[in-house]
Amino acid sequence: MIELVDVYKTYRRGDSTIEALRGVSLKVEKGDIFGVIGYSGAGKSTLIRLVNYLEKPTKGQVFVDGQLLDRYSVQELRNVKKKIGMIFQHFNLLESKTVYDNVAIPLVLVKKSKAEIRQRVTELLDFVGLSDKAGSYPKELSGGQKQRVGIARALAGNPTILLCDEATSALDPQTTQSILALLKQISQTYPITILMITHEMAVIQQICNKVAVMEEGIIVEQGNVLNVFGSP
Ligand code: ADP
Ligand code: ADP
Repeated sequence: MIELVDVYKTYRRGDSTIEALRGVSLKVEKGDIFGVIGYSGAGKSTLIRLVNYLEKPTKGQVFVDGQLLDRYSVQELRNVKKKIGMIFQHFNLLESKTVYDNVAIPLVLVKKSKAEIRQRVTELLDFVGLSDKAGSYPKELSGGQKQRVGIARALAGNPTILLCDEATSALDPQTTQSILALLKQISQTYPITILMITHEMAVIQQICNKVAVMEEGIIVEQGNVLNVFGSP
């Protein structure tokens, strides 16, 4: 579903270079909840940006849904974006739009009809438990509720891949639990593959089946969570 083959990413900053990824290979299979864990600076965000088409590898290959990304064209970008939904640490909601309109964004972008949008948004808000908040604005919501909106928006376009960037790092422990439970439910309800980056071991142990441990641009360990970390 997602595969990186010997991927390098070098950033240039003035005269110096930073090797953010140094020969990363990993394979995320269909239906996995795959966690990438590492300290700040390990290269996790770079890895996600390569999958999300925001960066091009310096060397190596990136496959998304079996397709090699190599052209970095507008058409390829469109194909990739269609397959990917993403949630963020700080939710990235549009403050000037209601919950309903935030969830509708991806559908408006692909020019779905009003009726289709209404049906899909209603269904998603019901799924994430926010039917009564459709008309609210992000500032009226708790952190957990905001992340639920983020999740609904990410799912709106029926993606085959859900990328989670420190999705629970801004939440308290109890809210983290409820968001992790929701992600698990998504994994069981939809034919979706989840790739999440986090610095929190507990998150990986609770919902991931596979894990890659990153240090300074290298994957130092990779496999089933139980084999790598033992049981929680
Ligand atoms: P993580 O998400 O694990 O914190 P990052 O992928 O953000 O790691 O960063 C890996 C390394 O690459 C760090 O040393 C970081 O400073 C550097 N880096 C990330 N993005 C850029 C960029 N756009 N330009 C220059 N250096 C970057
Ligand atoms: P941004 O620069 O904030 O990513 P975009 O115009 O690319 O803005 O995206 C529009 C909205 O969709 C933003 O609120 C952003 O947080 C969110 N978004 C960005 N990338 C993705 C993605 N791959 N899947 C789903 N939502 C995304």
